[in-house]
Amino acid sequence: MAIQIKTVDQLKVMRRAGLVVAGGLELMKAAIKPGVTTLELDAMAADFLKAHNAIPSFLNYNGFPNVICASVNHEVVHGIPNERPMIEGDVMSIDFGAIVEGWHGDSAFTVGVGAVAAEDQKLMDVCEESMWRGIAAGKVGGHLSDISHAIESYIVSQGKYGILREYGGHGIGTEMHQDPHVINYGPAGLGLELKPGLALAIEPMITRGTEKMKTLSDDWTVIASDKSNGAHFEHSFALLPDGKPFVLTALDGGRERLGVLGVEVSELLA
Ligand code: MG
Ligand code: MG
Repeated sequence: MAIQIKTVDQLKVMRRAGLVVAGGLELMKAAIKPGVTTLELDAMAADFLKAHNAIPSFLNYNGFPNVICASVNHEVVHGIPNERPMIEGDVMSIDFGAIVEGWHGDSAFTVGVGAVAAEDQKLMDVCEESMWRGIAAGKVGGHLSDISHAIESYIVSQGKYGILREYGGHGIGTEMHQDPHVINYGPAGLGLELKPGLALAIEPMITRGTEKMKTLSDDWTVIASDKSNGAHFEHSFALLPDGKPFVLTALDGGRERLGVLGVEVSELLA
């Protein structure tokens, strides 16, 4: 598949999709507490999409049965929402995508249900920061694997975590999953040269133990084979003609978190 280069006008529509995803995820995050089920979150997400004239990216994607992926504890990604009430201490990952006028947004977070073990909080913090470091490393004139390397380097600097090998980020645009595939490890300086008009979903997935995964008999849910807890964060971002990035699925465009890393975000989508 050829790399899809977007115009600023097309990225403005992707920003609208990204804001729907961000709004839906905020709503779900606020609702996460002991006793709530992931099917209830899924229904909230479906209603939110309807209210914003958006279409779910995930529903029926290769037969996926729901609007969100909900993965708890040692389920790392692609979990199917169900009727199990959340329990204090659960590590809950929510992944959500939306289509506006044919353009996709895709984003995910992991959060503790109530108070969680310190090691689980660190797992989530490391995963989230590695995503921001990856985005910050995605610079016009650089190469795709600069992102991969920044993600892995940060994770490795923070302790022993399993970095999923078979899954990674991706191009995003008129399809949810486009080329290029973005691995979350490896040396810098390789692969596609980064240029304005690229839009990429960056999504590190890590565990407190192994990088080896198993898929459950539902054909979707990916679990750590040693049953260690996992975390998953994702944002979709674009590179603009001013040479700066903009995080399409962050409410503030990534201004705050990228600013801390010394990266200014573009004003072209404002
Ligand atoms: Mg996703
Ligand atoms: Mg994705």
